[in-house]
Amino acid sequence: MKISPQLKERARRIARKLRRAYPDARCELNFNNPLELLIAAILSAQCTDERVNRVTPELFRKYRSAADWAGVPQAVLENEIRSTGFFRNKARNIIALTRRLAEDFGGRVPDDFETLVSLPGIGRKTANLMMAVAFHKPGLVVDTHCRRVARRLQLTDNNDPARIEEDLKALIPRTSWGSFSHTMVFHGRYCCTARKPACRKCPVREDCPSRDYA
Ligand code: SF4
Repeated sequence: MKISPQLKERARRIARKLRRAYPDARCELNFNNPLELLIAAILSAQCTDERVNRVTPELFRKYRSAADWAGVPQAVLENEIRSTGFFRNKARNIIALTRRLAEDFGGRVPDDFETLVSLPGIGRKTANLMMAVAFHKPGLVVDTHCRRVARRLQLTDNNDPARIEEDLKALIPRTSWGSFSHTMVFHGRYCCTARKPACRKCPVREDCPSRDYA
C-alpha cells in the first residue's frame, strides 16, 4: 500500500484517539511468564480469551516448565484442553513446541521474532504477541478484529494478515505497535464489531472513510 504523509497523519490521529478511548486495552489472556503466555496464545486460536483463562490456571499449576509440558501424554493433554476447541492440533503443537524449547533453548522462550516464528506451531500473530506482551519489545498483532478495523479505516488495502501487519507497521511508530494493536482489538470487540459496527458512537468516526457504511 502506498503510504502518503496524509495517510500517516490520519493513522497516528486514529492511534491517539483509540488510546484515549481504550486506556485499559491490553492482552486479556492471563499468564505469569513467557511460557504461560505462549501456551495460552496457542489455546486461544478459534477460542475466546475468557474460555482459555478458565482452563489455564489448573494447567499452569500442574505444568511449570517446557519439559513438564513436553512430557504430557498427548491423550491426557487433549482431554485437559478439549473445551478450547481444535484440541488435537493444539495438543500436538504444544508438545512439539515445548519439546523443542526444552531440547534447544534450555526451556526458555526466545525473545526475538525470527526465532519465535521458526518454532513449531508459532505464526506471526503469536510471535508478535510474545514480542509486545511478554518481552515489551515492538510487536504488532493482527488478529481478526485488527484486520477488520484496519480495512474499514482504510489503513490497508490488503487482506492477508502479514501484508496488513506490514502496512500498519509503516504507519505507526515502532514504540506504539503493541498498544496500537491492543486498542484495535478492543475497538473491534466493543465498537467496530463484525455484524453491527456502532459508527454513531465511534471515537474515530471523523477519521473513518467507512463510517455509516460498514
Ligand atoms: S466509524 Fe464505524 S466502520 Fe468506522 S471504525 Fe468506527 S465503528 Fe468502525
